[in-house]
Amino acid sequence: MKLGKIISTTSVYVLFAHSIHGQSPVSPNIILILADDLGYADVGFNGCKDIPTPHIDRIAEQGVIFSNGYVSYCVCGPSRAGLITGRYQDRFGFSRNPLFAPNDAGMGLPLSEETIADALKQAGYKSAALGKWHLGAHESLHPVNRGFDDFFGFLGGGHHYFPELWVLNDHYEAKSEYDSYKTRLLRNHERVEEKEYLTDALSREAVSYIEKYKNEPFFIYLAYNAPHEPLQATEKYLSRFGHMEEGKRKTYAAMVSSVDDGVGMVLDKLEELGLSENTLVIFLSDNGGPEQANASDNGILRGGKSDLFEGGIRVPFAMCWPAKIPAGMIFHHPVISLDIFATAIAQSQKPVNTKNRLDGVNLLPYLTGAKKGQPHDYLFWRKFDAKDYALRTGYEKLVIRKGSTRMFFDLDRDVSEQNDLSNQSNARTNKLFKAFQKWESGLVGPAFLGLMEDKEYNALHPERFRRPSGE
Ligand code: CA
Repeated sequence: MKLGKIISTTSVYVLFAHSIHGQSPVSPNIILILADDLGYADVGFNGCKDIPTPHIDRIAEQGVIFSNGYVSYCVCGPSRAGLITGRYQDRFGFSRNPLFAPNDAGMGLPLSEETIADALKQAGYKSAALGKWHLGAHESLHPVNRGFDDFFGFLGGGHHYFPELWVLNDHYEAKSEYDSYKTRLLRNHERVEEKEYLTDALSREAVSYIEKYKNEPFFIYLAYNAPHEPLQATEKYLSRFGHMEEGKRKTYAAMVSSVDDGVGMVLDKLEELGLSENTLVIFLSDNGGPEQANASDNGILRGGKSDLFEGGIRVPFAMCWPAKIPAGMIFHHPVISLDIFATAIAQSQKPVNTKNRLDGVNLLPYLTGAKKGQPHDYLFWRKFDAKDYALRTGYEKLVIRKGSTRMFFDLDRDVSEQNDLSNQSNARTNKLFKAFQKWESGLVGPAFLGLMEDKEYNALHPERFRRPSGE
């Protein structure tokens, strides 16, 4: 009886799959899960011992761990601009963390740029952006005007997690940058009454949009702001860490655990709907952990958020797609967040023509074995204001601080960047610097004032939060 039941369920599934899709291949669904300020060593698949992340680890177990996975910048805003466009963000002036400026169309991702959602729309995808946007708060820069069909979340660079702290009805009640953390959440353009802890609300919405879009290819950009400051967690998650001493690490652990639960809800929903096999799920952090600020842990990597040492730019990064990517892989060649856009559009069964030249590459052939070697000859980073730069090629890494101090590291022998070899490798250092200069010649300067210029911006824009006339 039991066996009969299994067979009939399977037959129904096969029939169902064929009736919907016939024999032709189907574009995969894509779920891009971004954590915020999560340390390299704070997930189980990178060796974390004190914070269990069984669900995030499922992505790694069912697919590939990128042990040398990078982002294109070491803080939130520019990293997201790179991720969402598949291009080095300094090609279009996104060199700073944008300010929350709802009346300023120039503060955020320029309209010259195409988002991954814009591109996937060409192939018939439905898409939702959930959580932290941070690519502009002006109407023209709102997610639904940047290729997404739906949005649920907040437009600024961070947010409080507890609903009782969302005391501002709208942005025009804000008086400062950090007031944006207190605004009520948005569903598209409507302020909503939300009762759940923020991370839980975002996970709930992700599951809901999977359900809503299940009959067509979909793209969900699930951008948690956890475990970015402020450190706020509910008892549900704190109680899992009762053995830890009171303090930042405990609250941080609880916040990571809430993200992990959310990832579990997403993966479970895919399984329930029979969508796991043909869904590409990607998990990464937007930059390295700021260890002092949120008690994150970048392990043996040097530095953290806002550094171009490995701790600032090398992040937890994993991807699964059971239909195509072999399970249990570890990919050691350098890859970068910019590759996600190129990888996603290359899997579409309908052609996608991108407006701008991408810097990322399609990783799939490297994961299936169709292509050998490394996806990138060089990766580059630039912090414009600090004049800090970096380059990686193979295991070699060039770091330049304050425009002049050059350091050269062999990451194969010295992943912690402790032994500067620039004196012994002068010729090689010079050669890499020339490669950096060539790349930099294709970049532009900052397009807007950033978080560090908050006062200057306010002086220039006294009506920064004013309610637009007619609203
Ligand atoms: Ca961040």
